[in-house]
Formats: sequence, structure tokens, C-alpha cells
Amino acid sequence: MTCRHYKSNTKEGVDKMNPMDFVKREPYKLYINGAYVNSESGELQDCINPATNEIFARAYYGDVEDAEKAVKAARIAFDKGPWGKMSAKERSKILLKAVRIMEERGDEFATLEALECGYHYGVARYYCVPMAIDSFEYFAGKAREIEGKVIPSDYGTLNYVTWNPVGVVAEILPWNGPYLMGCQKINAILAAGNTCVIKPPSWGVLTLLQLASVYEEAGLPEGVFNVITGSGNSVGAYLTKHPDVDMVAMTGGTSTGREVILNSADRVKDIALELGGKSPNIFFEDIDIKTAVKWAVWGFTNHSGQICVSGTRILVQKTIYEEFLREMKLFIAKKIIPGDTFDPSSNLDPVISKEHANSVWNYIEKGKQEGARIICGGEKFEKGVLKKGNFIPVTVFADVTPNMTIYQEEIFGPVACVIPFDTEEEAIELANNTVYGLAGAVFTKDIKRGIRVADGIKSGQIYINNYFSKGMIESPGTGWKESGIGVAGIKKYMISKTVFVETIDNTVPPL
Ligand code: NDP
Repeated sequence: MTCRHYKSNTKEGVDKMNPMDFVKREPYKLYINGAYVNSESGELQDCINPATNEIFARAYYGDVEDAEKAVKAARIAFDKGPWGKMSAKERSKILLKAVRIMEERGDEFATLEALECGYHYGVARYYCVPMAIDSFEYFAGKAREIEGKVIPSDYGTLNYVTWNPVGVVAEILPWNGPYLMGCQKINAILAAGNTCVIKPPSWGVLTLLQLASVYEEAGLPEGVFNVITGSGNSVGAYLTKHPDVDMVAMTGGTSTGREVILNSADRVKDIALELGGKSPNIFFEDIDIKTAVKWAVWGFTNHSGQICVSGTRILVQKTIYEEFLREMKLFIAKKIIPGDTFDPSSNLDPVISKEHANSVWNYIEKGKQEGARIICGGEKFEKGVLKKGNFIPVTVFADVTPNMTIYQEEIFGPVACVIPFDTEEEAIELANNTVYGLAGAVFTKDIKRGIRVADGIKSGQIYINNYFSKGMIESPGTGWKESGIGVAGIKKYMISKTVFVETIDNTVPPL
């Protein structure tokens, strides 16, 4: 297999490369206590390219015996290893050393993410890799500026608050961006001084397994970082219940989040959940329709809609509704090109697996049955690479109403619902009319209205006249309602302690 390789984000200066040059022929191994190891069972899993449905690599498939070893290693490394004694500056230096290693291996990580998770290679190489590297640098800096506070006290004591690592963190990740998402979360975990067991998604294990070698070369002590593949129902649930795991952080679907809450309840564990979404993208009549349509389409087709904050409910003011739909149809027909993820001319990725493609098709059928009007898409690709891979045409439903399944449920594919509204109040009401509260956007030339609508939408991040977060590390979002629990950033993985110091002699116990 050969492909053209972007030298930049344009088509100029393309090079030749063979993605398989970056793939190991032998099975990828789990990483426990500072060493790559086979799984206890010796079982292997196939790594399948979603663009072709061909197996391109294999990895050891972990289970609870492997998870047990990993938790033990992480526990000992936290309680007794050198990691706990290192200063923030020493931890920071390890992360900075890892930056240089990751920079050298950018092609490999981008290739693995493209091959396994269906990311467009150009996006993986020139967005995900630099953003991932930035997360090493950012959290290396953050490690050194974790500040507590001193609280004024009337009682003759000096009260101060410190921030401390939580301990052993189990980080459970989804398949829609395990490399970038993983780096952002793991670097925060490490910068805070924790140890961790990473559970990659079953559909995307390779970059996280390879990440271990980056940390190893950078000098991370053994046991601090462990990666166990395996199913969510066994390895994920085992980690969630394990008494030696202090915190479970899971990014994934809302129903998985509920299981994590239930499974962690016995031990009253710290949990942080980043869950699903069904975000509204609102367009008022004063916008430039042609530009607005680009934002609307980008908002739900980027990575084929497999982004938690995708703007999949497009609310359009009635006065421009039909024109907006016509422009959307034209724009999609002209500009959206499904194709191999290593082809620079394509811009619509496959969805992760045949199973997930079936789930998306079920929603499309449901939309048709429930009476929504199809504007474009909705029919399967019948030939060539598009049939072989998990490609789904961009599908737009109009006249969608809140009682329809496609309005309420997360589809996680390139499928959008378009809904008309009359007034600002109605737009806000419609926007809030799901169980989710992850993101949302509003497009209007009237900035006061933009801010009013942003205030009215119940979600953790809102974009005004743009879509997708800019500065994901500096300004991370949190999920409201059923989209999540917990704060983001380094403090997500830290716990506070308040210390009361006696400063005068005349406060005695009242005994
Ligand atoms: P899932 O919820 O299916 O899986 C997420 C992770 O949890 C996987 O590693 C999975 O393992 C594991 N898991 C599954 N069951 C359990 C369990 N009982 N206990 C512990 N872990 C378990 O999500 P997807 O991988 O399908 O990812 C897509 C979802 O993620 C979407 O809903 C999307 O909105 C959400 N997401 C949210 C983000 C946010 O920031 N809010 C960001 C990105 C995605 P396995 O793969 O083996 O099943």
C-alpha cells in the first residue's frame, strides 16, 4: 500500500510513503510495570482499518489477570516508588524529554491513528500530533504551577490548602481519538503526580500501547504508566471496582458512564466522566448563509461526526430555512469527498467499525420511518472502496421534531437534523430539549443576542460564530446534564487538603 503524504496542509509538496512501514509485524504487547508483555491468556485481537475493513496489525488482548498486575504495579509505584518522591520539576522534565521523542515519532503515531481509527492522515499528522505534543509541554509547565491557597482565619490558626495527586488513576478511553485524547489526559495525570492504568478502546489500542515506549525512553519510573487492552465489560469494569484504584476517569457513552457510577459506588471512588452529546448549532436570519452553511456542515461532518461535541441539531430561523437547506445540499454535493484516509483529496472519514456503521444506518432508517424529510444522503454506497470501508454519506434530515429519535439520541455519524424556529426564546428551548449538555453554537451578527443565547444554553461549552473548541487544553469543557461529571484539566486528577496550623498559644480545647 502506498499513499501520498502531506508535507503541509495543502496538496503542494506531497511525498511517497508506505503506512505499513510504521506498523509492527509482530503483535503489539501490553505494558505493565515498565515492560512490554504478552497477555496472560496469549489471546490476540485484530486491528482493522475502517477504510478497508482489512486487518493490518494484531495486539495482545488483555483481561482481568493483566489488569490485576497493572493495578498492583501502579499501586506500588504510587505508594513506594521514586515517582512519589520526585519534585514537580523532575516530573516536568520527564514530560519535556518525552516531547522530543514524540516529535521524532510523529509520522508513526499519525499513521497508526489513521489506520486504526479512520482519521484522515493529514488531520492526524498536522492536527492530532502537534496538539498531542502541546499537551506534553503544557502539562510539564502546569506541574510546576500547582498552587494552593492560604485562608484568613478568625481562630488563631493559619489555614492553608494544598493540591495532591489522587493516587492510582484508571483512565478509560473511547475510540474516536484515543491518541490525542489519551495524551491530553495522561499528561495531566502524570504532571499531577499520579500513577495510572490506561484502558484503551477495543477499536483503537495501538497508539496508546506505543505511547508507553515514549514515556519509558523519557525516563518514567516503572509502574507509573501501564496499558491494558481488553473489553470494557471485563477490564473496564474490573478497574472501576478495584479497591486499589483511587479514581476512575472514563470518556465514552452516557450508558457506559452510568455503569461506571454504579460499579464505583461501593468504594465511593473519585470519578470523572466525559460523556455523549447532541449539540445544537443555531443560525439566525442575519447571518451570511453561504458562510454559515460551511460552519454547519463542518460541525457535524468533521471525522464523520464521531466527535462528542458535533453540532448535530441544526436550528435555523424560519425566514431562511428553505434557502439554508438548498445551500447545504449544494455545498455537501460539491465539497464533501469520502475516500481513503491516506488520500489527500478526500475529506470524509469512514466510521470506526461495521457494527457502528450498522448502528448509524439504523438511525437513518428510523429518521425516515419517523417522517423526517431527507435533504441528502440516506442511501448506501454501492461500489468500490466506499462500499468496502465503513463509509456513510453525509445525511441531512429536515423538519425534525423533538419527539423523533434522531433529534434526541446521539448517532455519532455524519448525520444532522435541521429544525426550524421562529424566535430566540424558541431556539433556546429547542436547544435545551435533550438530556445532553455538552456543547452548542450560535451564529448571528448581533453579538448581544449571541451572548444571550450562549447564556441560555445549558452546556459546558458554547461557540459564538465558530465551531469546535479552540485551545482545548487551556479551555477544556465539562459536560452538563447527562454529558458528564467532574472538572477538566489537571485538577481533575488532584485532591485538596486543608491544613490548620496553631499560631497562638491561647487557643485551648474547651475541656
Ligand atoms: P463507550 O462508552 O462504548 O466506550 C468507552 C470506553 O469505555 C471504552 O474503552 C470501552 O471499552 C469502555 N467500557 C465499556 N463498557 C464499560 C464498563 N462497563 N466499564 C468500564 N468501561 C467500559 O464509548 P465509545 O468508545 O463508543 O465512544 C463514543 C462515545 O464517547 C460517544 O458517546 C461520545 O460522545 C463519547 N465521547 C465523549 C467525549 C467528551 O469529552 N464528553 C469525548 C469523546 C467521546 P470497549 O471499547 O472495550 O467497549
